[in-house]
Amino acid sequence: IKGQYGKHFAAYDDKLRGELLRQQAIIDSMETALSDGQFLIYLQPKYRIRDNKLVGAEALVRWNHPEWGLQFPDEFIPLFEKNGFIAKLDQFIWDKACAILKEWDDRGYLPISISVNVSRADIYNINISEILMGTVRRYGLRPSRLHLEITESAYTEQPCQIIETVRRLRELGFVIEMDDFGSGYSSLNMLNQMPLDILKLDMKFVQGETGKSVGQGILQTIVELARRMRLSVVAEGVETKEQLDRVTETGCDYAQGYYFAKPMPAQDLEALLKDRKAE
Ligand code: C2E
Ligand code: CA
Ligand code: CA
Ligand code: CA
Repeated sequence: IKGQYGKHFAAYDDKLRGELLRQQAIIDSMETALSDGQFLIYLQPKYRIRDNKLVGAEALVRWNHPEWGLQFPDEFIPLFEKNGFIAKLDQFIWDKACAILKEWDDRGYLPISISVNVSRADIYNINISEILMGTVRRYGLRPSRLHLEITESAYTEQPCQIIETVRRLRELGFVIEMDDFGSGYSSLNMLNQMPLDILKLDMKFVQGETGKSVGQGILQTIVELARRMRLSVVAEGVETKEQLDRVTETGCDYAQGYYFAKPMPAQDLEALLKDRKAE
């Protein structure tokens, strides 16, 4: 038994050491990665269900590392949220998003909006509204072209302070989306006090392997609640025609997911906009 224990412990130790080394390697290379242009903005189109029109996109970061290849956010975002680097990375993505919008406006495409992810650490920055206003102004864009996706869980600590900050951003004209809504943190009665324009449903409502009727009932209730509060509803994670039909039936306004398209480089989304222009 003793030998077994030692073996398990050694294996655990190795795993932990490997993980720490990986984290250290990420930390050692993040600044260079940013200045070398290794971080990429990918865009996933968002469609208005009623007429199947491409109306927006969500910006999602990718890290094209010279040795590790294309890395997905789950590999590095949690770490950057802990060490504070997320503020720099998000600022970079917001800048890219605005640069893209400006370029596409100049080329005469019908204007879309881009939804950017705003992490909890960004919201705690007392200068966040100046930073975001400065960003859109640099490109001559109206704030409403940027949608700010704030996850439901960002409101858990110091909700009053967060609500105040988000209210100010909304007054400035940014469109506020609550991301991952229904993932478990916000109470329904708090929803009332939240400065919000759009509810973005947690994927589990769309994909839910739960007994269909139960899931459908909850979905229906949330959408009705949103209606009453004059919020639009986005269904994300739509992968199949059946899921699209389900969210359409319940009255969701917008849909996003692999059924339509995966996140893609900006020039690929531009090709879709060109198609739309030709319609
Ligand atoms: P999120 O904001 O909830 O983004 C949705 C995630 O679902 C994305 O994963 C997207 O690629 C994925 N997705 C889209 N359609 C489907 C679908 O039909 N099925 C499934 N199964 N997944 C789908 P991704 O790009 O790996 O990003 C993961 C998370 O990392 C994001 O979750 C967000 O919380 C965070 N993140 C990504 N980019 C940024 C960023 O620039 N800044 C910050 N602060 N966070 C980011
Ligand atoms: Ca998001
Ligand atoms: Ca989400
Ligand atoms: Ca998420």
